[in-house]
Amino acid sequence: MSVIPRIIPRAEHTISRSQIDKGVLDVLYTLSRNGYEAYLVGGCVRDLLLGLEPKDFDIVTNATPDQVKGVFRSRCRIIGRRFRLAHVHVGDKVVEVATFRAQAEERGDRVIDDQGMVRRDNVYGTRDEDVWRRDFTINALYYNIEDFSIIDYVGALDDLKNGKIRLIGEPIVRYREDPVRMIRAVRFACKLGLDLPNETAEPLPDLAHLLAEAAPARLYEEVLKLFHSGQALCVFEKLRQHGLFGGLFDQTEYCLQQPDSWSALVIPVALGHTDERIATDKGVHPAFLFAVMMWESVWQAMERDEQEAVHIDDLLKAANIVLTEQSERTSLTRPIMQHIKEIWALQLPLLYKQEKAEKIMGMPRFRAAFDFLVLRSVAVPRFQSVVDFWQEQQIVHPEWLWQKPSYVSYQNDEADVDAYSTKPKRRRRYRR
Ligand code: ATP
Ligand code: MG
Repeated sequence: MSVIPRIIPRAEHTISRSQIDKGVLDVLYTLSRNGYEAYLVGGCVRDLLLGLEPKDFDIVTNATPDQVKGVFRSRCRIIGRRFRLAHVHVGDKVVEVATFRAQAEERGDRVIDDQGMVRRDNVYGTRDEDVWRRDFTINALYYNIEDFSIIDYVGALDDLKNGKIRLIGEPIVRYREDPVRMIRAVRFACKLGLDLPNETAEPLPDLAHLLAEAAPARLYEEVLKLFHSGQALCVFEKLRQHGLFGGLFDQTEYCLQQPDSWSALVIPVALGHTDERIATDKGVHPAFLFAVMMWESVWQAMERDEQEAVHIDDLLKAANIVLTEQSERTSLTRPIMQHIKEIWALQLPLLYKQEKAEKIMGMPRFRAAFDFLVLRSVAVPRFQSVVDFWQEQQIVHPEWLWQKPSYVSYQNDEADVDAYSTKPKRRRRYRR
């Protein structure tokens, strides 16, 4: 498709180089000095124009990954097999540099399955070709380091001004190509405070089932972006409103539709807390999110009422069934599943073994399990007195609380589990 873009010169837009990360500028300039085109593209240009701080800066160039490697040499590593990308190291940061991609069907290298989903798509192209592969108009702006202009092929600036999230091309076709775009639409609506216009929203309920086709590992990452970006409550409501939530959490959606659903009452409260924690720079952990989302399903699987005492073996058996099924949607690693089960398993001693307070408070998941019990008291008011008990113990005996050893990294859940695993560690043997 040949479209002449609108070029907005530096004097007519608000993006200043002082808003761009120094390392990113360095990479852009270096590519340009070496005779390549180099642009900021996508979410960072959109966010800068909206006066938001970009989460990351995406660079796109006409240099192939090997040519980028030729420019940055030892500072550059090429990653990815399906889509090759260059990672350029600047100080302690890594800047991602992508090469323009083309609509591959014109060159016979695009694989589309019978649902219309793109399975392989990896052909380098030009800027004029690259733009049509992007998802939403507001994500398809280029900032040119050559003359600091902005390049707009798709009316993105008007859409930004009018607060519209519009797909590039035919919405149904674009959603079918990549169903994850449906949840991206919701994420951007919440992140940017915009509503989804009819043309973007209308196809969603009918196409939601296609989410089941997306790779579970990718959906897990998307779930974290959806619920750990500070607008979890908005995202939850919008996903449900557009019929998409069940595509990510089918068991939870089933629970939400039952009368007097625990999830309907507690999930919004939990997500409100998550948003508050992120707003105040407190940590959030995926295991807690999934523990909340899946809790009612565990009780459904046991066919028991949340207020009854259950045996730990029954709880863990149900937990395994529910988490294994969830993992088919959003893959859950073994350490994450373990972490979730520990939060759940600790609910029993929290409720029924208060005489063992010192031992219980010394467990690594105590704090998460306590926060979880606080949430449960929203649905079961009589748990409030138990919450009060544990609250008081933490004030009176702070020394009982588990202290994270300095060598345990929460970034790495494997390490987290190993730190207090009772199994002997397998020694790794190195060949000479
Ligand atoms: P943020 O970084 O705030 O989450 P973003 O728009 O930068 O938002 P990324 O996932 O970083 O999102 O992707 C960068 C750019 O790549 C997007 O702006 C868009 O142009 C393009 N893109 C990403 N995912 C898709 C997709 N599924 N389909 C088409 N284009 C996409
Ligand atoms: Mg981005």
